[in-house]
Amino acid sequence: MQGLARLSLDGFAVDLGGTKIAAARIERGTVKERLQTATDGKAGPEVQLATIEGLLQRLGHAAGAALGVAVAGRIDGEGSWHAVNRGILEAVQGFPLAKALEGIVGPVTCCNDAAAAAFAEAHFGAGRGSRHFAYLTVSTGVGGGIVLDGRLVQSRNGLAGHVGFVRSPFGQRPCGSGRHGTVESTAAGRAIAAEAEAQGHAGADARAVFAAAARGEAWAETIIAGSARAVATLIADLATILGLDRVAIGGSVGLAEGYLERVRTALAQEPELFRVELAPAELGHDSALLGALALRHMAAG
Ligand code: ADP
Repeated sequence: MQGLARLSLDGFAVDLGGTKIAAARIERGTVKERLQTATDGKAGPEVQLATIEGLLQRLGHAAGAALGVAVAGRIDGEGSWHAVNRGILEAVQGFPLAKALEGIVGPVTCCNDAAAAAFAEAHFGAGRGSRHFAYLTVSTGVGGGIVLDGRLVQSRNGLAGHVGFVRSPFGQRPCGSGRHGTVESTAAGRAIAAEAEAQGHAGADARAVFAAAARGEAWAETIIAGSARAVATLIADLATILGLDRVAIGGSVGLAEGYLERVRTALAQEPELFRVELAPAELGHDSALLGALALRHMAAG
């Protein structure tokens, strides 16, 4: 993989998710200062923009300093921002985020949050030494990104790499993307909770289902194993299409006790050719921040 030196990262980054917005000042690849605030998920893009601007001001961002911005949703080739999942930042429908930010704070690179995290993991985390790499985050939803020979796979409409929207052979539920039976609707934290409710355990979120599994409750183990099986199948499919040599898994569900092992067990059911090396994500909650700034550095040359 082409090297991108973490120590060369100096500047600012923002990670705007469905529940929280984080902004950071990064020096030599390390987060030196980090601010966080709750996302107003119902608000329009102008409000989100003002929040970003406010956080950057508090961090001492000066116009022209390197800036990368990662957001939930897709960013198209023009830097416009579109909600993808129903219920997540739904008021954002084709807002020219990059242009609007450029007018206020100077040059910026914008991208999807999981794609940014994938880029950071590829260069500075669990993907180091891998040539064809994918990162999956299993959390409230399932997101991800693909990095081939050091480059993030991106498309004109910003959809490339949204691997949670691939359909699963085990999928039975509607998905916020508008598709049906996707990996996200089968494996994500929300899907785990929905399945628990369907089995008479209303109110149990993914964390509670993991706790029940740890107590040896068979229903909970079956639900988590079902999620892991859907993720393993996706990984084998991606490996077939892209020739992946490593996949890292992150997210609150992905990094929960025993989840990666369950994915490994499910992947072992596939013929050997379709198995890929699995690793836990390494960069934690800073991955999208680091990745967004790294993508800015790449874009700025
Ligand atoms: P985000 O999607 O912003 O990462 P959270 O990390 O709060 O949000 O939670 C996302 C999902 O992960 C939820 O479905 C939640 O139930 C689940 N989750 C959070 N912590 C754990 C845990 N320790 N074990 C299993 N699932 C968890």
